[in-house]
Amino acid sequence: MLSIQENLQRIKSSIPSNVGLVAVSKFHPNEAIMEAYSCGHRMFGESRVQELQQKQLSLPNDIEWHFIGHLQTNKVKNIVSFVSLIHAVDSEKLLAEISKEGAKKSRIVPCLLQVHIAQEEVKFGFDADELRTLLSKNINRLYPNAQVCGLMGMASLTSNMEQVRLEFRGLKQLFDELKRTYFSNQPQFCQLSMGMSGDYTIAIEEGSTLIRIGSSIFGSRS
Ligand SMILES: *Cc1c(COP(=O)(O)O)cnc(C)c1O
Repeated sequence: MLSIQENLQRIKSSIPSNVGLVAVSKFHPNEAIMEAYSCGHRMFGESRVQELQQKQLSLPNDIEWHFIGHLQTNKVKNIVSFVSLIHAVDSEKLLAEISKEGAKKSRIVPCLLQVHIAQEEVKFGFDADELRTLLSKNINRLYPNAQVCGLMGMASLTSNMEQVRLEFRGLKQLFDELKRTYFSNQPQFCQLSMGMSGDYTIAIEEGSTLIRIGSSIFGSRS
């Protein structure tokens, strides 16, 4: 079995330099994170608020923490002072809360809007029309302390890689349309977070700028 460092190096050397790699460390101990940290990796992703808070307190300050899971509005305040990017904003209410809590900490908090692209019913996220409706409002004025930097999506859990590819392709098309229509003079709208251990190669081919990899780096989660 390869070590965490070997896994990281293998993935990094196989992806373009303009694609960011979020090492998804959820359910893995601090020692595993430090193994990746000690070979220079700084971008880590967590999906539970309490776990993220504990890790942030005990690990080095120059780690860039990404929150990739479903975030409840009542927990925004716990991470807003330090989080680098919130990947899965799935309601206007959550965006409003991030802005409100960000303002209290004098921060502008980078966020991505989660789009529902999979066929499963359970996944969170906006559909295309809901996004157009939201972005037709002046969200920069309404929510000045939450900065929308792009979109995030998760493909269906299926072995049909053609379907996965089409879902990523649809998300990229939506990203381009929204950028053109609502963010034409706003270079910060530039991130497309898609791709996990099982599908990141396809996601990159379809235009991902940020992949979120857990098990291919750290092994399976218990
Ligand atoms: C757990 C998780 C990942 C990483 O999944 P792997 O298949 O282990 O790479 C990526 N994105 C989200 C939103 C996750 O919850």
